[in-house]
Amino acid sequence: MASLPPSPVSGYRGRLAPSPTGYLHVGHARTFWTAWQRTREASGTLVMRMEDLDAERSRSQYAEAALEDLRWLGIRWHEGPDKGGPHAPYAQSKRRSLYLLAWRRLLRRGYLFPCRCSRKDLEAALGAPHEGTAESGNEKLEPLDDEPVYPGTCRGNLGHTPQLPGPTTSEMEMPDGFNWRFRVRDGEIVAFEDANLGLQTFEAGKDFGDFVVWRRDGSPSYQLACVADDSAMGITEVVRGADLLKSTARQILLYRALGFEPPAWFHCKLVVDHNGRRLAKRHDSLSLRALRQRGLTPMNILSAALPVGA
Ligand code: GLU
Repeated sequence: MASLPPSPVSGYRGRLAPSPTGYLHVGHARTFWTAWQRTREASGTLVMRMEDLDAERSRSQYAEAALEDLRWLGIRWHEGPDKGGPHAPYAQSKRRSLYLLAWRRLLRRGYLFPCRCSRKDLEAALGAPHEGTAESGNEKLEPLDDEPVYPGTCRGNLGHTPQLPGPTTSEMEMPDGFNWRFRVRDGEIVAFEDANLGLQTFEAGKDFGDFVVWRRDGSPSYQLACVADDSAMGITEVVRGADLLKSTARQILLYRALGFEPPAWFHCKLVVDHNGRRLAKRHDSLSLRALRQRGLTPMNILSAALPVGA
């Protein structure tokens, strides 16, 4: 198998964006293989970006394993943490200043409000514990596509709070101390054409609510970092799993608010286990590592992961 990716001759730029919070599994193999194939078909450039913002759960051993597993599958990239490139660094934990710029721009444009709700407050307002309310407190940073709609408690804080110097923001303005949410317009329809799944339509305020862009613990959210990076890295098509469709709708709102051109979208159907549940990193027996140790070849895995196209 070739050890170098073909030289890019088109302006197509795709990306692989693993989160190093566990070993990659068959579902990742499908998504990343599809991203690689689409880049090759377009004679484009493939970028590897390590999404290691979750300091508590990210491990360098998983980051290394992801690169190794993907190479073993036969996937090759042109730019990445192991290769460098014009958009280095390629690990999100090293790109904080870019995310701060995006946060400031959103704040200045009046899209954000500081939120003091704790996870308990949200659970109380929503009437029951919800898995997704983790967005607010010591949250897990896995994308939470199905987080419950924010009840609106702190919406009135739009723009600034008495704790902050004023409504206009300077270069020194910092998000520390609050969760910052992007205020959606209830009823707004966000529609986009997906190159694999066709037209997708979501309604703000119903399918998703005011979402976190910066966390009280000092880290940007997946939604903000992903948009800032995909835009800065010149990504022209995002290939990701269909579990992130609602995240894409939120991200489209961020692209508009920031004044960035959105990429094209291609969402891969999900690989499910024998009970019909989507694979997660906790399915250790289906990790690429485990399957490889059991003697499976990349071809075995890819033919199981890609039964009828993407
Ligand atoms: N890092 C995310 C994940 O591993 C993927 C994000 C994306 O493709 O936008 O689930």
